[in-house]
Amino acid sequence: MLDHQLIGVMRFFFLLFVILISATQLLAADFSFYQQQSKQQGPTLLVIGGVDGDEPGGFHAAATLVTRYQIQRGNLWIVPNLNFKSILERQRGNMNLKFASISRQDPQYQQVQQIKKIITQPQVDLVLNLHDGSGFYHPQRINSQRNPNRWGQSCVIDQSNLEGVQFGDLKHLAEVIIQQLNAKVPAKDQNFLLKNMHTATYQEDIPAKKSLSYFAVRNQKPALAVESSKTHPVYLRTYYHLLALEATMQQMGIHFTRDFQLTPMGVKQIIKDDAVLALASGRIQLELNNMRTTINNFPLPKTDPMEFTTNNPLITLLPTDNRYRIHYGNNRLAFINPQFVDLDRSIDSIEIAIDGMLQPVSFGSIVPVEKSFLVKEQKGYRVQVVGFAKPGHASDGHLPISHAQMKQRYSIDKAGQLYRVEIYRNERFSGMILVDFRPQSTKKEPLIARTPPVSFDSDEQHN
Ligand SMILES: [Zn+2]
Repeated sequence: MLDHQLIGVMRFFFLLFVILISATQLLAADFSFYQQQSKQQGPTLLVIGGVDGDEPGGFHAAATLVTRYQIQRGNLWIVPNLNFKSILERQRGNMNLKFASISRQDPQYQQVQQIKKIITQPQVDLVLNLHDGSGFYHPQRINSQRNPNRWGQSCVIDQSNLEGVQFGDLKHLAEVIIQQLNAKVPAKDQNFLLKNMHTATYQEDIPAKKSLSYFAVRNQKPALAVESSKTHPVYLRTYYHLLALEATMQQMGIHFTRDFQLTPMGVKQIIKDDAVLALASGRIQLELNNMRTTINNFPLPKTDPMEFTTNNPLITLLPTDNRYRIHYGNNRLAFINPQFVDLDRSIDSIEIAIDGMLQPVSFGSIVPVEKSFLVKEQKGYRVQVVGFAKPGHASDGHLPISHAQMKQRYSIDKAGQLYRVEIYRNERFSGMILVDFRPQSTKKEPLIARTPPVSFDSDEQHN
């Protein structure tokens, strides 16, 4: 039981470290920028996901670097959601055609200028750009899905070699990555192949000349792109991207650890699990996996309802009419119908007997319950267990409540296993705890955001 209590406390405190994202930033849909600088000197890899908004394999892989990897030697810089606006709109967005020239009036102008600044930082040794490509690339035309104009399952370079820089032997690097990828590909017809664009040799203005990768190369930064095939489900594309990322880091001498199994099923699981949203200054935490499509009467602070923290850079909250919608990459999750409240900050936790064991539980916790729970009544506070109503009681405190007594349609999740316990002081909202009736097997470790994003300002950095 102590473990449960600890998890609750940890969840609460780690969330406090996460940088708050303000509503104005959200609406501008800026990308996030993470720098994992290790204590041991080594090269720096810049990973970019989501230059095309409708290629989730790439941006989920980049986000997984943020949520699940730690760097022991060298440095990993990550922009997981470059074209975040298009990601949220589930559109390509055409940003990757704007790296040769872009008008100041272009709505993507700021983002393109910012990423150019990051790419050209002296510290960056290699740029890896993650895409999901159509069909299967093949140097000869086999059929409509497998030919030179397709991109899927390829490693793309603009030229074989970039003279005078470390990791400039792009062809060799791509070949090593491909070899490691293909060792894990289950069938030969899904093998990755090298696609050398020979971009510089073209007289005409081919699209490759306008791309992010070629911008990097023109600025003496070795760059390559990995394209997982869109014929695969997203988790499998993400898996291939992560294999390519690990192969790249190994080649560069960047040492890392991760806390999950790099298998297709392991990746599928973390894409589902790595989705937590905290609201009301961490007094509420929602697990987004398998969430209902609409959550009603949900307490949000009157003053700043959109203020949130999350463990995952692909998650955001957007206003829509009189409610809010949670987005996770290309996925549109629940609508929240708000009940605007004033916050009560007089307490941060409440005592709950979970399966008979009394313990303090921090607001924002998700607590596993096997049989029943009982929220201890505290003078001056009202307990509201959403989905439980006993006639004649003003407060749901001091009542043992089992799963069977809950009305399923009030659960947070579609399976009817996750319920809200809300605490109020008069009409002010003190905090929420989720009680979790899922079988023990599905209980997970607390999610934390290890690497808060940094704001990028090149001038400041090099003073
Ligand atoms: Zn793409």
